[in-house]
Amino acid sequence: MFRDKAIETLSSEGLQKLQIERLQQTLKRAQSVPFYRERCKEIGIAPHDIQTYDDVRKLPFTTKKDLQEGYPFGFLAVPMSEVVRIHTTSGTTGKPTVVAYTAEDLESWSELIARNLTMAGMTSDDIFQNMVNYGMFTGGLGFHYGSEKIGAVTIPSATGNTHRQIEMLSDFGVTAIHCTPSYAMRIVEVVEEMGMSLPKLKYGLFGAEPWSEAVRAELEKRLGVEAFDSYGMSELFGPGVAFECPEHDGLHIWHDAYYVEIIDPKTGENLPPGVRGELVVTPLLKYAMPLLRYRTGDITMLMPEPCPCGRGMRIARLTGRTDDMLIIRGINVFPSQIEHIVMQIPGVGDQFMVTIERVNHLDEMSISVEITDDVFNGELDQLTKLQSRLVDELKERLELRTTIRLVERGSLPRFEGKAKRVIDLREGM
Ligand code: ADP
Ligand code: ZN
Repeated sequence: MFRDKAIETLSSEGLQKLQIERLQQTLKRAQSVPFYRERCKEIGIAPHDIQTYDDVRKLPFTTKKDLQEGYPFGFLAVPMSEVVRIHTTSGTTGKPTVVAYTAEDLESWSELIARNLTMAGMTSDDIFQNMVNYGMFTGGLGFHYGSEKIGAVTIPSATGNTHRQIEMLSDFGVTAIHCTPSYAMRIVEVVEEMGMSLPKLKYGLFGAEPWSEAVRAELEKRLGVEAFDSYGMSELFGPGVAFECPEHDGLHIWHDAYYVEIIDPKTGENLPPGVRGELVVTPLLKYAMPLLRYRTGDITMLMPEPCPCGRGMRIARLTGRTDDMLIIRGINVFPSQIEHIVMQIPGVGDQFMVTIERVNHLDEMSISVEITDDVFNGELDQLTKLQSRLVDELKERLELRTTIRLVERGSLPRFEGKAKRVIDLREGM
């Protein structure tokens, strides 16, 4: 299902014309920001110099650090009287970054979310419970307005009080939910503890943090939903940048609103489709805070093949950030890889926690893993086997030696928002 078929399936010629036009307008709007005015002057580039995609590569990058240095309003391109909303990033990676919206920005943003929901298959007949933080985090209000836009019944349940959330899911006949995949795993667990089932539930929209195919399989099986991956970040309005179609093979970038590139994070050089690197995004419809070539820190690739659904460019599921990549004894590891390996082993429960320490100058990784009740109460032999299987799989797939601690279900922390599953105790981390 399409919300705007002509735009969503725009072919490369029409798309190039639209994107170049909007890139020029964005560059023009950015001239009201001293940071960009100075950079563009240094480089000697003006809006009419952007005629092809190659020209875009001349534009300066923007980093999260730049935005932090502009705190709070240094990147505003409109007078404050035109701003109608302010959000900040959740601050997972340091000092919060302020983002601002004009009325037009909010309209574009909710339209993009409405597209996500329609692409998943939702209509005005759906009942949608939005189980994310409604404060400064963009996921709450972002999905809220998008859902109202398609005419779905929208329940702003936010996070917390998991029992009450589940009662509402059941009593109101909720058909679609949005939350972080970590919180969805918690919901599943409590639904099962309460001995309930949620037969009306059809769509699970999950995002805001990396999650693996193993978690997707668990959520689809135990919640009975079709799970969709949702990607975005506050600096780019919030969620609504890219979303999965029913093919579940990569996320479509909303190409009329975001121009994307993949670069080598070390050299800044552009990488071709099929090669992983850092996602760089130039939003095309932002008024309050236009950005040029924003370095997201997220790692993905452009998918080389067109999608059977007919929509445009896709990015692969996000495997981590340039800055959450763990380097353990020289080996690059993403927490999502660990999750993927651990979670698909039978007997492993829903939660795990990684601790990295430096012992005698050597990095040591230990992982506490919750196990299922039957294994916990079973034979000692079964426990030992599970432990060595975990050690062996991690060794084989990541080339890393780990210490595994098996713990009882319910003993590791649960998360309502983004999970923090890695504790890095090494100095300077
Ligand atoms: P912060 O960087 O402070 O967490 P946001 O709350 O805006 O700010 O989070 C945006 C980041 O969340 C993205 O840059 C990305 O790293 C992560 N993220 C969002 N959606 C996904 C997703 N579907 N898969 C993986 N990571 C995601
Ligand atoms: Zn598709």
